[in-house]
Amino acid sequence: MYRTHTCGELRLTDVKTTVTLAGWVQTVRKFGSITFVDLRDRYGITQLLFSEALNGELDANPLGREFVLQVNGSVNERSSKNANIPTGDIEINVVSFKILNKSAVPPFSIQDDTDGGDELRMKYRFLDLRRNIVKKNLELRYAVGRSARNYLHENNFLDIETPFLIKSTPEGARDFVVPSRMNSGQFYALPQSPQTFKQLLMVSGYDRYYQIVKCFRDEDLRADRQPEFTQIDCEMCFVEQEDILQTFEGLVKRIFKDVKNIDYSETIQRMTWEEAMWNYGNDKPDIRFDIAICNLKFPSHTFPTKENQSALIDGASFGVFDDAETVVAIAIPGCSEYTRKQTDELTEWVKRPQIGMKGLVFIKCNADGTFKSSVDKFYNEEKLKAIATAANAKAGDLILILAGAEERTRKAISDLRMYMADKLGLRKPTDFKLLWVLDFPLFEYDEEGNRWVARHHPFTSPKPTQIAEMINNNPVIENAAEYLKHPYANIKANAYDMVLNGNEIGGGSIRIFQRELQEKMFAALGMDAAEQQHKFGFLLGAFEYGAPPHGGIAFGFDRLCSILGGSESIRDFIAFPKNNSGRDVMIDAPSTIDAKQFEELQIKLDLKA
Ligand code: ASP
Repeated sequence: MYRTHTCGELRLTDVKTTVTLAGWVQTVRKFGSITFVDLRDRYGITQLLFSEALNGELDANPLGREFVLQVNGSVNERSSKNANIPTGDIEINVVSFKILNKSAVPPFSIQDDTDGGDELRMKYRFLDLRRNIVKKNLELRYAVGRSARNYLHENNFLDIETPFLIKSTPEGARDFVVPSRMNSGQFYALPQSPQTFKQLLMVSGYDRYYQIVKCFRDEDLRADRQPEFTQIDCEMCFVEQEDILQTFEGLVKRIFKDVKNIDYSETIQRMTWEEAMWNYGNDKPDIRFDIAICNLKFPSHTFPTKENQSALIDGASFGVFDDAETVVAIAIPGCSEYTRKQTDELTEWVKRPQIGMKGLVFIKCNADGTFKSSVDKFYNEEKLKAIATAANAKAGDLILILAGAEERTRKAISDLRMYMADKLGLRKPTDFKLLWVLDFPLFEYDEEGNRWVARHHPFTSPKPTQIAEMINNNPVIENAAEYLKHPYANIKANAYDMVLNGNEIGGGSIRIFQRELQEKMFAALGMDAAEQQHKFGFLLGAFEYGAPPHGGIAFGFDRLCSILGGSESIRDFIAFPKNNSGRDVMIDAPSTIDAKQFEELQIKLDLKA
């Protein structure tokens, strides 16, 4: 037997028992004639004491960091106890030991605050995984997965595997493709998500499906994206949006309870996409703090439902506001006494290329009810007061105003809102606030591709009240660069996102299940009948055989884990992640393949091209 106990379990109650432990040498410390060793395994660290009698043997077989060691001995009470670790009251008085394997000197120290940089730890990920901090993250990941499985199982969901080698139908992101040797010249694609398969399972009558599943997207890697990532993927039939929202509120609340022991009993707030964009400048607002945007001016095509408040700023001959497409303000609580230096710093911050604003206007709402602003020349006290009232500012607040092109300015005010909240400590990682964002636009204009795309995916149903509008209209796709040029630009999707602390953690939709509507949708995206048939003939065909109404959702499992773990980075919660260039630097992938493999695949590689 290699071990009788783990390195994390012995206590004072075990004193005098004879035990065998096996693990890795964390540290070796010599004190005169005796030697202390910290032995580590997955469960903890236990102190070993090698007495003088073993010195000869230790000299013949010196121990080094990360050696794999087996020891036999008795449990003793320690004279100087270590309250920081659960085994800190005892140590093992070693009687005999055996080196099971040696170790090269590790390239970084295997400790919580390691001296290893990112790339080095990635290269030796198997060593990095020995660190307690990384292990804790993987344990949390396992706990989240287990909790989700338990909940879904108890609610009658079936875990059904769907294939990884599928057909390439790039819609959102680029597909990873896999050449087929047996079908020369043809390729599989790795799934971006099991979307069509889970819908087919609904047609098959498996009314509650889930899978914790890998998805693959060949996207340019923005920070903290992985080319392969994991989703908790779910689908249900005979459901409306409300059924889905309730079922998956249950899932997330259960995970909070199981993993964090948090009773999330409050009602989860809901807001429409338009409200989110109006009030927070983005579609995944962090609502742990209630600073909302005051829309002073914006182009009429942006969100057709809102009135401009430009009367408040017009007629003052202030060119910056007059010439801007959009003017937006936020009131920052308790910051009216910001010094010149502080407001200058904020101005510099919004001028950074990532934010891209030309400047920042501020109004101080002084505690005594007076106002002082950077635009006093243009706006008298009365006008400043009117703006402050519109911005919901109280005495003591600092109003920050940005002006510029719509999209950039709205994004900038949203970033500034988050930046100020961080500064004021309003975004505590231990606070959790969930939110549903509903009623997304069905379509979205893709500048890069110069075309209209489905905002969620092309299987998403319009709002029930707008289905007739879609079926009865004959869409004409123009080369529309403006929002309203698409005949369906105002159609809202029966789609929802779950947002946690400013991160989208899940998203889904009620699906189209009628062939006719699905064809309309494909056509609206510019796909002719032949292309529809080639790419999605299987789905259109299936819809003819009794497809039930259905809908679903997928949660970003890695992201959910990282937020619950209080970390910004999903990489920390993936055992073997890729780096920012999509490389696994440990196994050195991707890599070239042999000439023979190319030959078998009948692929000619022209490296000159
Ligand atoms: N397949 C979708 C996604 O990956 C989720 C869903 O609609 O269920 O985002």
